[in-house]
Amino acid sequence: MTQLAVIGGSGAHALLSVKSFGSHKTVPSQKTPFGSVSDIRKYNVDGLRFLFLPRHGADGYHVSAPFVNYRANIWALKQLGVERIISWSGPGIINPEYEVGGFVVPHDIIDQTRNRPSTFFEKGGLGFIRMKHPFCVELRHSLIYSMQTAGLRFADKAVYCCTEGPRLETPAEIRLYHSYGADLVGMTLAPEAFLARELEMCYAPICYLTNFAEGIVPRVFQHGVLFEGMLDPEEKKRVDEAMDKMPGIIIGALDAIAGHGRECDCKDAMSRYKKRGDINDQWYTWIDP
Ligand SMILES: [Zn+2]
Repeated sequence: MTQLAVIGGSGAHALLSVKSFGSHKTVPSQKTPFGSVSDIRKYNVDGLRFLFLPRHGADGYHVSAPFVNYRANIWALKQLGVERIISWSGPGIINPEYEVGGFVVPHDIIDQTRNRPSTFFEKGGLGFIRMKHPFCVELRHSLIYSMQTAGLRFADKAVYCCTEGPRLETPAEIRLYHSYGADLVGMTLAPEAFLARELEMCYAPICYLTNFAEGIVPRVFQHGVLFEGMLDPEEKKRVDEAMDKMPGIIIGALDAIAGHGRECDCKDAMSRYKKRGDINDQWYTWIDP
């Protein structure tokens, strides 16, 4: 059984088309109580085995963030034996101390989504889970270790604010999120991170920063291009360079943690309910869709 997985964000399809991780096998479509999941790939990079799920589609940006079937994706990975998930995403910058094309390992998240199913446990009173560390501490360390080893500059902390989308945020919304203490704004980590925790999987994001959020720096409106003028050509070059480094960072992090047992809190997220007898060790019996 494969225990490691990567969920690829925007740009994943472009990277996969140049075989960044080498050759792969396609995993048969996975049936879940929430719909089926295809597009999962299996990689073996010099003996390091992991699964890869392109969140927005394998050959293009086909599914925007609010319409990703997060529950089916996480369930499918759990079904395939995954215990640890590294997720990559390209958020915008609210806190101007961060730079476009920079790498960040966020440590906290504010969930501002509103139309997405946010839990597996719609009935039964389960899932009252403490969020001291919304992202897995051990996986975060492996990402940090990977970037240190590669000699990359990065930030080891940030608060990520997850919005609903697919539209980008208004200037007033960005000011509001800044006042909340958010450093970054994106559309994908919630409820993905929370769903993984509900199934006692480890989950941590690695972000490359794609643009300044609305109103953070003055930008002329441009029609017909990505982000309509929020990204200048010099920044775009830095973003592309950052994206090219993502496979190496991820391999380094997976390599650092593969073979080590889990000692983090993620694996015990549901222990209260097991102790109480609400659920047993057969995770796939935990919900009754
Ligand atoms: Zn963990």
